[in-house]
Amino acid sequence: MININELTALEIGEKIKNKEITVLETVDAFISQIEKVDKDVNSFITVDKEEARKKALLIQEKIDSGEISGPLAGVPIAIKDNISTKGLLTTCASKILDGYIPTFSATVIDNIEKAGMITLGKTNMDEFAMGSTTETSHYGETKNPWNLNHVPGGSSGGSCTSVASGEAPVSLGSDTGGSIRQPSSFCGVTGIKPTYGTVSRYGLIAYGSSLDQIGPIGKDVKDAVSLLSVISSYDEKDSTSVKRDDYDFTKYLVDDVKGMKIGVPRDYFTDDMDTEVKEKIYSAIKALEEKGAIVEEFNLSLVPFAIPAYYVIASAEASSNLERFDGVKYGFRAEDYDDLHSMYKKTRSEGFGSEVKRRIMLGSFVLSSGYYDAYYLKALKVKALIKEAFDKAFAKYDVIIAPAAPTVAPKLGESLKDPMKMYLSDIYTISVNLCGLPGMSVPVGKSEGGLPIGMQIIANRWDEANMIKTAFAYESTGEYEKCQMLKGGEA
Ligand code: GLN
Repeated sequence: MININELTALEIGEKIKNKEITVLETVDAFISQIEKVDKDVNSFITVDKEEARKKALLIQEKIDSGEISGPLAGVPIAIKDNISTKGLLTTCASKILDGYIPTFSATVIDNIEKAGMITLGKTNMDEFAMGSTTETSHYGETKNPWNLNHVPGGSSGGSCTSVASGEAPVSLGSDTGGSIRQPSSFCGVTGIKPTYGTVSRYGLIAYGSSLDQIGPIGKDVKDAVSLLSVISSYDEKDSTSVKRDDYDFTKYLVDDVKGMKIGVPRDYFTDDMDTEVKEKIYSAIKALEEKGAIVEEFNLSLVPFAIPAYYVIASAEASSNLERFDGVKYGFRAEDYDDLHSMYKKTRSEGFGSEVKRRIMLGSFVLSSGYYDAYYLKALKVKALIKEAFDKAFAKYDVIIAPAAPTVAPKLGESLKDPMKMYLSDIYTISVNLCGLPGMSVPVGKSEGGLPIGMQIIANRWDEANMIKTAFAYESTGEYEKCQMLKGGEA
């Protein structure tokens, strides 16, 4: 018998088309896996069971009549809870959005629906996507499906866990400073952060608007790239959306890296990273070299300045973006208050968690008069210099290979004790957002303790082609198990 939960999204699409399985059977298979394992991993904040089953029947009709025929028609998907879904609770894992039901859907939701995909539910995340572990969620932490004592990474921890544990074939996450790539690495799945401007941000509840991108997560490169092709579009409702010549990224799924120039930044592979992570990535690079890629080490420079620049810019934008949550327009409102001002104050004090408050305070501080030049403006200048360093690198190399994180997934409860240390672990992912580059994480193996390790492939702006080719060529070496299936109760 076919185990639907183990299939890739493309395999599911194919089997639905060939009438080997129905859309409803598929949806039910994932719902029953959620019912079995979600009490252990906590990937979902909301499961939209009835609606998903209803849609399954509708989509089946449309497939049968030939109205929709794309490769992902009938395939279920899990959506990060900061992406607006009309009529379906959207919380950003924050108490302040408790009970908030959007009246409109994000453009990516329209795009997946046009492709005939079915939303299973909304996934857990760090509150407002601020964090690296999914532990700052108001709805409790998500656990790493490979070892329930460890975090899944964050902030798209729920989206990555849902794919890794067979609760969803694919999912959507968002990446402001690594939130797709780092949890993909920790969960052994493939996640892509597209070039800024490729995927519409309309309906994505903003964290750092100049950095945020929605991206796909899948069991393998083919799935992630196919989903990227579905969600990418020019959108006049997003003023930062850019019209690209072509949104079909699947044509870059070719196993050929002959002559491809790969740069490996010496200053990324330092002594303070895990040796296991280093070794696994080096051996993946070697596999690409054996396929004909030309590999060279180089000094990227400015690496230590990325973290402070990112946290200043991201927090500044967050403090402004989060002003709208005041108890009037959305979700939660404090119960006891005397006047309008005290209502605002109490709502925000009770509604936001401490990591979000820390960012709002930091952001308001760096934007305040007297400090703006010293911090915010300086951070923007550093960002420009970092961009120059990457431009120089991409004049020489087609792609850059880096770790996604310096370690494997930390134990639950360890990271939030020392936020500074947690921020520092974003070292390899945040520059990609500061420069608007595409980046993706591909599984390259596991540590001795059984935790996944991901390799990050970074390309120049608009050059998803080389990034995807490299990822696909590596994956085609075929040495890495695709996903962990949790059987109910046994984890
Ligand atoms: N860990 C980073 C932060 O907390 C990145 C989060 C993200 O990409 N959303 O800001």
